[in-house]
Parts: sequence; structure tokens; C-alpha cells
Amino acid sequence: MNPRDPALDGELDAPRSTQSLPSQAHGPGGRIEVVCGSMFSGKTEELIRRVKRALYGRQKVQAFKPRIDDRYDPTQIVSHGAIAIEAVPVANSESLMRRVEDGTQVVAIDEAQFFDRGIVEVCNELANQGRRVILAGLDQDYLGRPFPPMPDLMAIAEEVTKVRAVCTVCGGAASRSQRIIHEGSTVLVGGSDCYEARCRTCFRPREVRAGES
Ligand SMILES: [Zn+2]
Repeated sequence: MNPRDPALDGELDAPRSTQSLPSQAHGPGGRIEVVCGSMFSGKTEELIRRVKRALYGRQKVQAFKPRIDDRYDPTQIVSHGAIAIEAVPVANSESLMRRVEDGTQVVAIDEAQFFDRGIVEVCNELANQGRRVILAGLDQDYLGRPFPPMPDLMAIAEEVTKVRAVCTVCGGAASRSQRIIHEGSTVLVGGSDCYEARCRTCFRPREVRAGES
């Protein structure tokens, strides 16, 4: 039995050491970072910047994105001399988890808003294993509503970065994605021909029709 320092009496309810905390069980450094904003806000650029820095630091990085159609179209997410890393399309969060290799220190995930809700627990598990998880995604849909599962990911993240675009109407800082074509689909794919960045004041979401989600 260890003799106890009387000076510490009365502090027994407070954690005196971090060694017993769960996050220490798998080594230090595990954490979740979320980079979010509207379309054209530079989310992916910020994700790539962080991945590049990790690669400069000789960390093992794997990058993923959701497969939203059947095409195999890996995005080259980083190129550093001979180092190139691709964002591997995966069907769902379970598939992502299976593909994370031993020794991977950084897991980068682009277009996180298109993942199923299981991505929240997957990110938690990866971070608990001591890995750094960096996600980029839309925080709102084209109607300005929170875009699941981003709100949950933002809640469990150690760090949330909101990046903003430039409002195409007034030139202010834009936080919303304005749909500028009219069609039924709610899937947010498409580029500058379908959407533009708007600030809160200039954003004009169309009304949601009954039965539309
Ligand atoms: Zn504006």
C-alpha cells in the first residue's frame, strides 16, 4: 500500500492523474476535427491542407469519401513529391471502418454529410484508438437545415472549424448554399451551375412542399 500524501487528502474525487482516462489507453493524440461550411467555402481545401501537413510530418494517412454513385472516381487528395494519396470511395461507414489499416494515424473524410449515421460511432472509435480524424462536410442543406450527421459529428469533435464562402449577391461572408435551379432532387450534387454561396441575408430558400423531406 502506498503512503498517501496528506496534502492530497480531500482531492480524492478529482482526477489526480490522466493515466486512468480512457483516452490514454490507446495512446495520446486521438481526436476529431470537423471542417464545415457551405458550398464553395473551401472545406476540402482545408482538409487537404491538414492532410499535407500530416504527410510532411511523416504520418500515415488514409482518406475516404462516400460513394454516391457507382462510378469509381477516386479524388487525388494530396500530392507531395512522390507521395500521392487518394480519397477512396466507400459505400458506408462500416466499409470505411473495415478499410482503416493498422498503423494509420490520420483518417481524413471528405463529403462527410453523405455518410450514414454510423459514421458518428466510427469516428468516435477511431479517435478512441488514438487516431486523428479530420472530416469535411456541408453543415446545412440547400434549405438551410442542419445536414445530418454533421450536427452529431460537430458535437463530439474536439475542434470545429466553420469556413465561409463569399456571398455572390453582396460580397459578404457566405454560410449557405443557394440552389439556383429548380428540380425535385434533394441530393446536393452539382457545382456552380446549380448552386451559389449566399449570406444569411441574401439566402432565399424555396418553400418546402408537403411530403418533401
Ligand atoms: Zn449576401
